[in-house]
Amino acid sequence: MEIAYRPESEALREEIRAFCRDEVPEEFKRAVRHEGEIEGEDSRRWLRMLYEKGGWSAPGWSRELGGPGWTYEQQYVFERELALNDAPRVPLFGAGMIGPAIIEFGSRALQEQFLPAILKGEILWCQGYSEPNSGSDLASLQTSAVRDGDHYVLNGTKMWTSDGHHADWMFGLFRTDNSGKKQHGITVLLVDMRTPGIELRPILTFDGGHETNQTFFDDVRVPVGNRLGEEHLGWTVAKYILGLERFGTAEVSRSQSSLARLKRIARDQPSSGGRLVDDEDFADAITEVELELRALELTEQRFLFGPGGPDAMGAEASMLKIRGTEVQQRITELTAEALGYYSQPFVPEQLAEGYNEEPVGPTPAGYAARSYFNMRKTSIYSGSNEIQKNIIAKAVLGL
Ligand SMILES: Cc1cc2nc3c(=O)[nH]c(=O)nc-3n(C[C@H](O)[C@H](O)[C@H](O)COP(=O)(O)OP(=O)(O)OC[C@H]3O[C@@H](n4cnc5c(N)ncnc54)[C@H](O)[C@@H]3O)c2cc1C
Repeated sequence: MEIAYRPESEALREEIRAFCRDEVPEEFKRAVRHEGEIEGEDSRRWLRMLYEKGGWSAPGWSRELGGPGWTYEQQYVFERELALNDAPRVPLFGAGMIGPAIIEFGSRALQEQFLPAILKGEILWCQGYSEPNSGSDLASLQTSAVRDGDHYVLNGTKMWTSDGHHADWMFGLFRTDNSGKKQHGITVLLVDMRTPGIELRPILTFDGGHETNQTFFDDVRVPVGNRLGEEHLGWTVAKYILGLERFGTAEVSRSQSSLARLKRIARDQPSSGGRLVDDEDFADAITEVELELRALELTEQRFLFGPGGPDAMGAEASMLKIRGTEVQQRITELTAEALGYYSQPFVPEQLAEGYNEEPVGPTPAGYAARSYFNMRKTSIYSGSNEIQKNIIAKAVLGL
């Protein structure tokens, strides 16, 4: 099954390809080709560029809100072409997660304060959900928000705050009442990260990178006006936002690009007097993952463009998340295997593209072990794969 795009989507596809070819900065593309991400000021610059193309910074938003007003098919084409042409992702926390929640649950004042700024890429966000003892069992969270006049006073700690060190604002879940069911008594607050009493401590991930943090709150005062939705009833808002997060996790197009890079490496790498790609076992492994990816692509398209479209997705999103992350991890495993010694992080920077010495070993290769280690995270975050299996067991198998 191949998707035949409507003419307006085809036209958009050409426009995005030209944008990627002519306008996306080379250093951004290099980061993506090394299976990396841009961050901080580069993210702001990227969002600004997308905004200026006609609201592309918020691909799911309507024209009235300043977005491009794209159909689901056009949004799919947009994500896909960015991935296939080595452009960075659109940061999800802003226009993809908290933006829609502010549209759905926010007061007029919050909408006026945040929506234009999100659209223009003026604000970077982080997500304050998980805590040291509340991850999969998120509703057990205990970081408290106690009402004091026109403010809430926050105390406690959030764990794994991705990009917290670059973020201007956090959308977080806080405990305002402990008397009932654990899902009751949670409140969503928007927290200015410059507020006194907030401290971030870096958590270095397996690959040695600084991507995530532990956030501490010590008598942090947040205006009541920064509450999103009703007091104590934030679980509904939290679930709405989580639903948006689970949406794009299959990452089919990004995996297709990574697979193409793996194939190039296998063609270049020597093995037993020939090329690695001619090694029967290795070729089989590549074929297997390619078939998995193709099946995933068709399954995703069936869910997205079938009856009801993406809005009808429930446990289907969990299926895509599980298989998508398994494929991503497998490709990085094979890439590290293909490069062997040269994929290791102790092989110095000279393997990076752009270094002014003669390369040692295949170039560019130094990213491969980092990416292999980094990708372990994908089956843990956005709801671990075990939790997704629980969802499928309940919703599909009725267990
Ligand atoms: C790199 C990274 C970035 C992250 N970024 C953020 C962020 O920006 N903001 C944020 O709020 N959180 C973030 N997280 C947190 C992430 O959402 C949690 O790690 C995840 O929800 C799992 O929670 P946990 O780490 O507490 O593990 P636990 O919930 O303690 O789980 C431990 C293990 O037990 C399994 N398990 C747990 N419960 C069950 C069950 N009922 N049935 C079967 N198996 C089960 C899990 O699958 C896992 O394998 C990030 C995590 C990582 C690794």
